[in-house]
Amino acid sequence: MTLPAAHISSINQSPTVKLLMRHVQPSHEHDACLSVLEIFQKNPNLFAIPVVNSEGMPLGIVDRHLFVETFIKPYARELYAKRKISEFMVEKAIVVDMGTTIDDVSKIIIDAGMQHMVIGFIITENGLYVGLANGHDLLNEIMQRKQEGLFYLAHFDQLTNLPNRLLFMDRLTRALGDAHRKKSAIGLLFIDLDNFKNFNDSMGHGFGDQILIAVANRLTSCAREVDTVARLSGDEFIMIIEDIDNQNSLDILCHRILDSMKSPWEVMGRNVFLTASIGTSVYPHDSTEAGDLILKADAAMYEAKRGGRNAHTHFKTGMRLYSMDKMTLENDLRLAIERNEFELFYQPQVSVDGGGVIGMEALIRWNHPERGLLTPIHFIEIAEKTGLIIAIGKWVVKEACRQHQEWIQCGYQPLRISVNISPLQFYQTSFCEDIRSVLAETGMMPSSLELELTEGMFMHNIDNVVKVLNELHDLGVLLAIDDFGTGYSNLSYLKRFPIDRLKIDQSFVRGIENESTNMEIVRTISNLAKTMSLELVAEGVETADEMNIVGMCGCDFMQGYKFSKPLSSSDFLLWRSEYESTLDVQTVILKAS
Ligand code: C2E
Ligand code: MG
Ligand code: MG
Repeated sequence: MTLPAAHISSINQSPTVKLLMRHVQPSHEHDACLSVLEIFQKNPNLFAIPVVNSEGMPLGIVDRHLFVETFIKPYARELYAKRKISEFMVEKAIVVDMGTTIDDVSKIIIDAGMQHMVIGFIITENGLYVGLANGHDLLNEIMQRKQEGLFYLAHFDQLTNLPNRLLFMDRLTRALGDAHRKKSAIGLLFIDLDNFKNFNDSMGHGFGDQILIAVANRLTSCAREVDTVARLSGDEFIMIIEDIDNQNSLDILCHRILDSMKSPWEVMGRNVFLTASIGTSVYPHDSTEAGDLILKADAAMYEAKRGGRNAHTHFKTGMRLYSMDKMTLENDLRLAIERNEFELFYQPQVSVDGGGVIGMEALIRWNHPERGLLTPIHFIEIAEKTGLIIAIGKWVVKEACRQHQEWIQCGYQPLRISVNISPLQFYQTSFCEDIRSVLAETGMMPSSLELELTEGMFMHNIDNVVKVLNELHDLGVLLAIDDFGTGYSNLSYLKRFPIDRLKIDQSFVRGIENESTNMEIVRTISNLAKTMSLELVAEGVETADEMNIVGMCGCDFMQGYKFSKPLSSSDFLLWRSEYESTLDVQTVILKAS
């Protein structure tokens, strides 16, 4: 549950002095001191009395303490009783209008001297006296707001106003205690946005921030008032759903969330597409311990991503848990190149027309000594954050070229190899030179190497980007845009770049037969590709339906589990010979559909 809006605004915006106002009957300038003394004596809680003129305009304040002290002295009563009260008031009292904020009045008092904190100040409306405020109340109010502010800073995410990790852990621990007593069940949803990095890369962090705020609002609107929606970090959100009856109710909620993501996201005047992957775990079914439940929901979320994103998955025994200890992973990653722990897997790409294998994408895997074979989802982000991706990326290009040449030497027909390039790698001033020297070193034909770039790379420093792309193009290597459509696709920029192919992101391909919007998008991209003479690859083709429809929509090539998962180099050879030997049959199937 988020902090109520009214509460947030009371933290961020200072209330006015009206909050502190007390209605104290004023004395008039000509009143005798004795009558004022009597008022103070009758009313021991009265800290001060304002003095006004006949029109009600404030003239000053009589401070109880100072005034009463005067009358304690011997003969004071005889001396002063009949004097006018105006002689005893503090003339330079602070007078503020009712609309003045507490923050502003605090500043005025600090500037004017702290004695006003003791005496208090007068509040007016249209210049006439309406009430008095007490320095003590003012101080209390300031302290309380400071504490609320500190609590807020420590427990809420500043960007989205959602509870942060600390408050989330507190709520989860409490919810688990309640559930234990009530013998009820709790569902935990681990939600991670798909391809969020592309938005940050292409549109800048300000744009990414606006998306996160919008996502926070949509998630909150999917939850009940009693549920907790928190932001863990970056684009990771988590939800605590208390008192769930069964797994089914979690399914319904996950569907609701994924559906809510579908309607267009208008961010800073632009329409973007966004999906999320959700993993769930359940107390007490999966675990009774908070940290364990989070790890399990996280593991299930990774499964959803692996399955093609835009989906939800429940934790199942046997799913691999990845400790969130990113530091150790980072240290291991530093050593991984030296220890030769990386390996390239290859996923075939086939032609829509005829089904022949036309190339493959090289996808990195990490043979971690303890964690086993890791896919990029577990380490690419860390590699990018630490800059290690530059060394890893160089290794990938070199290894892909080496493998390609080895296959040729063994007598295999050459196939084009695509490698993924990270933005950091692309921005290296030596990038073109590095590619050139790998080609020279390995003897690889430049036209057999394709570099997969992402839209985000083209958004900054365009002139330099055009220069680098032209240099690469002149080298003879091919250039593709990966995950096309997931960032903000400013189609007009494409004209300026010597691009050869677009790879439509798998989120548009998944279940395309039931998603008319996706079909429309793929058709539009296909028309665009045709007019610009670009080849089009559909990624993530898993089923015959998807295969048929992307073909009908005008894609030239396909890649996906329908044909093969990414395979080790030796398995790739086995797959290729088997696939090609049955290609005649495949061709018939493809043509028939
Ligand atoms: P990508 O370049 O879009 O690669 C396609 C991803 O989709 C691969 O995941 C692949 O295994 C998966 N995939 C392919 N077909 C299907 C399908 O039919 N269904 C489903 N559900 N998934 C399919 P992978 O290997 O886990 O790689 C993920 C991402 O990591 C890649 O996305 C790419 O952005 C990045 N990556 C991979 N290798 C490298 C690399 O060497 N360098 C860099 N910088 N990034 C890499
Ligand atoms: Mg790729
Ligand atoms: Mg891709």
